[in-house]
Amino acid sequence: MALNLHTHLEGCVRPTTAAELATVAGVPAPVGGWETALVVRQPSNLTTFLSHVGAVYPVLGSREALYRVTREAVEDAAADGCDFLELRAGPMTHVRDGFDVMAAIEAMCAGLDDGQRATGLPAGLIVCVLRNHDEETNIAVARAAARRAGSGVVGFDVAGDELLYPSLIPFVKPFAIAVAAGLGLTAHVAEAGPAANLMDAVNTLGVHRIGHGSRVADEPAVLAWAAAHEVCFEVCPTSNVLTGAVSSVRAHPIHRFLRSGCRVVLGDDDPITTGSRLSSEVARLTTDTGVTEGAMTSMHHAAVDVAFCDKSTRDMLRVQLASGDISSS
Ligand SMILES: [Zn+2]
Repeated sequence: MALNLHTHLEGCVRPTTAAELATVAGVPAPVGGWETALVVRQPSNLTTFLSHVGAVYPVLGSREALYRVTREAVEDAAADGCDFLELRAGPMTHVRDGFDVMAAIEAMCAGLDDGQRATGLPAGLIVCVLRNHDEETNIAVARAAARRAGSGVVGFDVAGDELLYPSLIPFVKPFAIAVAAGLGLTAHVAEAGPAANLMDAVNTLGVHRIGHGSRVADEPAVLAWAAAHEVCFEVCPTSNVLTGAVSSVRAHPIHRFLRSGCRVVLGDDDPITTGSRLSSEVARLTTDTGVTEGAMTSMHHAAVDVAFCDKSTRDMLRVQLASGDISSS
């Protein structure tokens, strides 16, 4: 079907699993139940959208919980027909007394391992640091991620409120630790903040993959700069509509990204929150917005090129793509 290079673990938790984990953890059910709490039905804004993603946080602070939701996220992606999965999560959010950031990452890696074994879907974990956390905390996250580099953890990302915390300077050291450990780099920028934040991320952190980056489409000069610097946009259309970043999938900047010569890859961001998995994203793009088969194929090729994986996995994906096992629609 396709490669999913942008999906958040916290947006992949089944409402039924959240309910069971809540019972174990003694967390009261939210008003209206877990389905209502976790799912966004109508377009609103990023703050409202993130409040639905965050509704699951109270039940994730244990090894058992993180192991289970990670394993299930891999299983659900495999059931959707995904060929390669990069799952990202912010471990510091799930740290509790007696459950530290290394333990949180280990729990997710164990779930990832068992999910891969059960399904055959190759998958890796991208560890996110958050803009609202201090530099010391994010350095500790980077060191923990580095210890599992190549054995579960494949990448490093910065996420969070770009408007309240615009500076990337506090992330220079954490990203340096990550790249020294061999992790792939990506960053959520120009999603809520201005297009020029993309140039800042490339110059300051050394990233070439950009999460969302929707605002860049409005600034032709920045878009041209991005193409010249071989930037790749990780695009999640339905999520962008539900956060209010774009008015519709039809009006999505993916068309301008593709025309600019930038590489574009796909993700489903938070499939439980949005109710749209990768297969639906591909279908909506081809039926609702007229993304051509050729453009879709070029996105699959780009995804294989930029995926955070080892050589044997990339070679295998190239063979699958060439043989038509990764379909173009
Ligand atoms: Zn994201």
